[in-house]
Amino acid sequence: MIVTQSLGVGGEGSLLGAAPPARGGAALRWSRFVPATAAEGPGLRAAVWVQGCSVRCPGCFNPHMWAERGALLDDPADLASRWVEDARAAGAEGLTLLGGEPFDQADALATVAEAFRDAGLGVMAFSGYTLDRLQAWAAERDGVARLLAATDLLCDGPYLADLPDTRRPWIGSQNQSIRALTPRYAAEVDRIARDGGRDALEVRISADGAVAVNGWATDAALADLLDDLGVRGDRVASMRKGTSR
Ligand code: SF4
Repeated sequence: MIVTQSLGVGGEGSLLGAAPPARGGAALRWSRFVPATAAEGPGLRAAVWVQGCSVRCPGCFNPHMWAERGALLDDPADLASRWVEDARAAGAEGLTLLGGEPFDQADALATVAEAFRDAGLGVMAFSGYTLDRLQAWAAERDGVARLLAATDLLCDGPYLADLPDTRRPWIGSQNQSIRALTPRYAAEVDRIARDGGRDALEVRISADGAVAVNGWATDAALADLLDDLGVRGDRVASMRKGTSR
């Protein structure tokens, strides 16, 4: 179910026209996991931000997540069993994959997504690649095929800063699509196509004073909010959605 049609245009230096890189090794490179958020998809969901993106959209809010080094490197099966347990304990009904580019690490994330699906939880994924390209690559890449098969809801297409989308939740530009790949979120996708929706922003302040943000707000709105909280913008671990904003 297509809300808008993706254009499939990447930024300078983008590898968008090429297949997602075949990463060596089985480990997942990731930056952050939260067991429950209401700002990254339908309902209450776990979310994982992966490290590394070869799409490189101009204006991306998460350029610090482009590099394919650093962050954390772990076995995906170990992560999956831990994250499913944490998500269930937090009352989440699904998982959202964002970053970074999830399909650059399709093999490892397929293992994670399949574990969530096996546990009866839904899976949402963001990708800077368009669905038609992912489907073409799936014929040759088992990991891409597995991750697509384990995805219920896909937000796809590169972020185009000159086409901002203010009508729909979660995605950042008008070229991007919100697609129900299975019936699980089909009613929600239909509702968004009909009525649009609003974005949400979550600010977490830990006991040591660290501030982390996820969800979506304009730079101006975020600056106003942080100013009200008395937080310096350069001290915030901003993890706004990577594949769409
Ligand atoms: S918006 Fe997403 S796909 Fe585009 S460069 Fe940023 S992380 Fe990569």
